[in-house]
Amino acid sequence: MRLSQYFMPTLRENPKEAEIVSHRLMLRAGMVRQASAGIYSWLPLGYRVLRRIEQIVREEQDAAGWQELLMPTIQSADLWKQSGRYDDYGKEMLRIQDRHEREMLYGPTNEELITEIFRNGAKSYRDLPKGLYHIQWKFRDEVRPRFGVMRGREFLMKDAYSFDLDYDSAKRAYQRQFVAYLRTFARLGLKAIPMEADTGPIGGDLSHEFIVLAETGESEVFCDREFLDHDVLEADFNYQDDAAVQKVVDYSTSLYARTDEKHDQARFEADVPEQRRYVGRGIEVGHIFYFGTKYSEPLGALVTTPDDQTVPIHMGSYGVGVSRLVGGIIEASHDENGIIWPESVAPFHVGLVNLRIADADCTAACDKLYGQLVEAGVEVLHDDRDESAGAKFASMDLIGLPWQLVVGPRGLKNGVVELKRRGGNGEREELSPEAAIAKLV
Ligand code: ATP
Ligand code: MG
Ligand code: MG
Ligand code: MG
Repeated sequence: MRLSQYFMPTLRENPKEAEIVSHRLMLRAGMVRQASAGIYSWLPLGYRVLRRIEQIVREEQDAAGWQELLMPTIQSADLWKQSGRYDDYGKEMLRIQDRHEREMLYGPTNEELITEIFRNGAKSYRDLPKGLYHIQWKFRDEVRPRFGVMRGREFLMKDAYSFDLDYDSAKRAYQRQFVAYLRTFARLGLKAIPMEADTGPIGGDLSHEFIVLAETGESEVFCDREFLDHDVLEADFNYQDDAAVQKVVDYSTSLYARTDEKHDQARFEADVPEQRRYVGRGIEVGHIFYFGTKYSEPLGALVTTPDDQTVPIHMGSYGVGVSRLVGGIIEASHDENGIIWPESVAPFHVGLVNLRIADADCTAACDKLYGQLVEAGVEVLHDDRDESAGAKFASMDLIGLPWQLVVGPRGLKNGVVELKRRGGNGEREELSPEAAIAKLV
C-alpha cells in the first residue's frame, strides 16, 4: 500500500476527549473515529488490526474443536422472556420495536439464541458434545462508555458455547477453552492471567476472567507475579489430549489470581510470598463460564440419554472482547512516540520510508524494494508522500509497524539502506537493499 493513496487521517495533537493512551493513539493513528458515544467506525488501518485479532481468535477456536457460525445482531424478545433475562438485563439492553410493534433487541450476548438453535438440531446424547461460536457485534448500553473501544456500546465479541451431556464432559469443554484463551492471548503478544470469577448461583470453580495487567484497567486485581514469567505457547498443542489440557489448567489454577470480587486477603498472604504479590489493575479481555442447565431448562433444550431418559444439556459460554483487545494490546505495548504492534497483529509488517521523493535514484530504489516486498507477500506500507523526513519518522513511530526500512540518497550512495525495529530496543542496522529484503521475507 502506498501511503500517498491510503486513507489514514493521523492527528498531530492529542485529542482532548481521550483519557487513556490507547484511545489517544488509536485516534491519532487514524484507526477509528467515534460515530456517537461508545460507537466507532473502523478506518482502514484499525480495521486491519481488528481482523488480524479476529483471525487469531478464530484459529485457536477452530483448533480447540469449536465450529463457527453466524447469528444475527438483532434478536426477538421472546426467547429472552422465556429465559427470564428480558427483565433482568435492565437498561444495558437496547430494545427496539419493529413496524408490527414486535419487541426486538440488539443482542448483548447470545445464550438464548444459541440454545434455541441447538435444541432444534440435537435430540440425543449422540449429538453431543459440540461447540459452536461466532464473532459478531454486540450492543450494551453501558452507563459510562469510555476509553474508546475498551468500553464501547457497540463492540465485537467472540462468543462460544459448549453443549454436553453431563458435568464431566462440560468441564472438559471448559478446560479446552481455558487453554485456547491462554494460547490466543499469548499469540496476540499479551500476558492474560486467568482469575477466578464469580459463578453466581451455579457455584463451583468453572468461571475465569482473563485479565491483562494495566494501570488503566477497570478491574482491581490480586495475583502471583509468577504468571508473568510463565510461557504457555508450545508449538502444535493437541486439544484432544485431555492430559495435556489438564496439565496447563492445573498449573494456571495453582497460582493465586483473583479480582476484587473474589479476593481473599488472608489466602493471598498465605499463598504468595510478599515479593511476588501483585496488587493493581487489569483489563478483562475474556471470560469463560460454565452455567449448567441455566438456559437449557427454561428453553427446553433436552436430549435423550443412552438409557432413554430425557435431560437438559449442560452448557458453558466463552467470550473474548475482540475490539477491546485492540485497545488492550496498545495499553500493553507502546512508548512515548506511539504504538508498538506485536508482529502477529500489526496492520503491516514493514513501513518503507522514502526520505527524498524528489531524488530520482532514491525513489527508483524505493519502488524496486516495494515491488520486491509485495511480490514476496510481505505487507508493506510505503511512505511515498512529499513530506519531511521528520514527519515521516513520526508517522511511522506513531502507527508502530514492527519494521521500518529507511531509504535515503546518502545511504544509497554507499549502497546501503537502514532497517530499524520499532520494538525491542529499537536496533537499527545499515545493510544492502538485498540483505534487507532477505531479512524481511
Ligand atoms: P465488563 O466487566 O468489562 O463490563 P463483562 O463482564 O460485562 O465486561 P462479559 O459479559 O463477560 O463482559 O463479555 C465477554 C467479553 O466481552 C468481556 O470479557 C470483554 O472483553 C468484552 N466486553 C464486555 N463489555 C464490553 C464493552 N462494553 N466494550 C468492549 N468490550 C466489552
Ligand atoms: Mg459489563
Ligand atoms: Mg466483567
Ligand atoms: Mg465478564
